[in-house]
Amino acid sequence: MSDHVELLAIAAHRDDVELTCGGTLAKAAKAGHRVGIVDLTQGEMGTRGDAATRAAEAERAARTLGVAVRLNAGMPDAHLANTAASRQKVVELIRRTKPRVVILPFGVGRHPDHRVASELGRDACYLAGLAKYEPGTGGEAHRPFKLLYALAYREDPVKPTFVVDISDVFETKMQAIRCYASKAAGEIFPTGQDLYELIRVQSAHYGSLIRRPYGEPFYTAETHEVDDVLRLGVQSL
Ligand SMILES: [Zn+2]
Repeated sequence: MSDHVELLAIAAHRDDVELTCGGTLAKAAKAGHRVGIVDLTQGEMGTRGDAATRAAEAERAARTLGVAVRLNAGMPDAHLANTAASRQKVVELIRRTKPRVVILPFGVGRHPDHRVASELGRDACYLAGLAKYEPGTGGEAHRPFKLLYALAYREDPVKPTFVVDISDVFETKMQAIRCYASKAAGEIFPTGQDLYELIRVQSAHYGSLIRRPYGEPFYTAETHEVDDVLRLGVQSL
């Protein structure tokens, strides 16, 4: 079976994509798109659960979301770096999966790995399209068409470019997050309240920005094109 996907989410740790864009991945898979995940590290620095436990959890979570391909770059957890070697590894995985759209972490993050994963992912998406960059690594040159930065749980004053309505797949997202019995909370600051309740409340907040029950926010550096202004969604007043 080919590893080609249409939508690929790249993140530092297992469970990062479930938290930040699990609903969007499940929704795309449900719509019939082939979806993939690349986890850059094995999550061996997590306070609970070793790498093998988290590998099994990540597989279960991928199946729950309907994700067809889940690959691991095997980079050192908490020591992620944007180097020539790590870029080449991610280029290999991008050429292998050939996504049209890639979801990356936002460029500012609480965990240093998240910030590095954002920059490393972006650089690798560019380099993967250069025919003369490490020819033969992972297959033919391929540059993704679009990069989306997942904004969930960010406190920085960045307004989402758009929010994906995940109301229909919200329970699927929660089920995928529950696969991580050994979980660390990633980007989410603990407040003492139940983690799942915290995720629900945050998803409801992003949903309210598009007048829906639940949503996941994204940022893009480029401006979006609109063909027909009469078909724009989200009521203003
Ligand atoms: Zn993380």
